[in-house]
Amino acid sequence: MKCSNSMKFLLSGALLVVMGQAAQAAEVVVYSARNEQLIKPLFDAYTKETGVQVKFITDKEGPLMARLKAEGRNTPADILLTVDAGNLWQAAQEDLLKPVDSQALKTNIPAYLRDPGNQWFGLSVRARTVIYNRNKVKAGELTTYEDLAGPTWKGRLCLRTSKKVYNQSLVAMMIAEHGEEKTEQIVRGWVANLATDPFPDDTKAMEAVAAGLCDATVVNTYYYGRLMEKKPNLPLAIYWPNQKGKETGVHVNISGAGVTKFAKNEREAIKLLEWLSSSKAQNLFADVNMEYPANRSVMWDATVAAWGNFRQNQINVSEAGKLQTRAVMLMDRAGYK
Ligand code: FE
Repeated sequence: MKCSNSMKFLLSGALLVVMGQAAQAAEVVVYSARNEQLIKPLFDAYTKETGVQVKFITDKEGPLMARLKAEGRNTPADILLTVDAGNLWQAAQEDLLKPVDSQALKTNIPAYLRDPGNQWFGLSVRARTVIYNRNKVKAGELTTYEDLAGPTWKGRLCLRTSKKVYNQSLVAMMIAEHGEEKTEQIVRGWVANLATDPFPDDTKAMEAVAAGLCDATVVNTYYYGRLMEKKPNLPLAIYWPNQKGKETGVHVNISGAGVTKFAKNEREAIKLLEWLSSSKAQNLFADVNMEYPANRSVMWDATVAAWGNFRQNQINVSEAGKLQTRAVMLMDRAGYK
């Protein structure tokens, strides 16, 4: 009797240890610059499917990266999730991430949407394209980003401020394609064509186009989606530039993630990233914010699909990070505020 009791005690103790280890392993901690409303449904679905708990905190990418840096090897974070390749590139540059060798991620995510050094991976695609006023723009007037600098667009262009990383990435990708001199000419042309001072956000720029203050602007399509959902009667439409012949396609950027350098749950973190890139999760990830799946085998959400098909610029998005400082200096020289 006595013996079996102590056996039981030992056994339950051993079981507790095992369970304790299991509980510790079956968890991933995410630092996310994407808000709770976008990521919680996704993580809940993952937990339901795998039993793995996903803990997360949300904040802007700046404070999250500062926190990762300050915490160093003591960080509880296993994954950094954020938007814009410029930010992810920066995180890798500051040695906050570690390379991940995953065949699933390589298969699911096209090469131009992930870090060549495998430190981060695009999980959704955001297209930065032209939005125009249907009542004011004639067929054939819109062609390319570059042409918005030309005489057709004198006094007709609205832009968001150059302080936003989206425009810094756009110009950085143009430097990658055209070199600095030609890109500066183009940006100078944009500035000369502005109808009014740059706007603080994409939505305000589109509202100015709708109000007739200017005829076209350049924004991320999900802002267009949100605005048109609220005000379907605005005279706005999408144009996909740079689609002809050798033109390189629509400027795209990503939201994406990487495993932190000091991840405690590295294996689970990689599994979560792989799941996020799978067809199962891609719609959940992209559709809530009217973005595009990064995984090409995944169907687009109906709202987004209705905006039409387009060819994406396939220069690796890491160039947006590499050339960001030069893009900022260039825009400053060109007088783009
Ligand atoms: Fe945004």
